[in-house]
Amino acid sequence: MARRRSAVELKDPEVLHIPCPQCKQQLETPVEMLDQEVLCPYCKAQFQLRRTDSIEYKRRRQQEKEIRERKAGREWLNYAIIAVVLVLVFLLFLIFSSGGG
Ligand SMILES: [Zn+2]
Repeated sequence: MARRRSAVELKDPEVLHIPCPQCKQQLETPVEMLDQEVLCPYCKAQFQLRRTDSIEYKRRRQQEKEIRERKAGREWLNYAIIAVVLVLVFLLFLIFSSGGG
């Protein structure tokens, strides 16, 4: 007899962590509560819950930034190699042009 898993488990209970702008305490925020005005339970400051303020959002942004920087780093390496080759060609050109006079 196979036991069926309840449908509740399939639903993703997404909770974001949003720091209070005043006391910096992280508040667990269900996604349903985003964009609502709330009172901080620690310091009673009123503020709006925004996804862009959440730890998860910032962490993802940070990861994307790191990936971009890693790619940019590789590009810089390519530019550096091209620059070195150009300098070598330029030096060879100087050597040959001065030697031929
Ligand atoms: Zn607070």
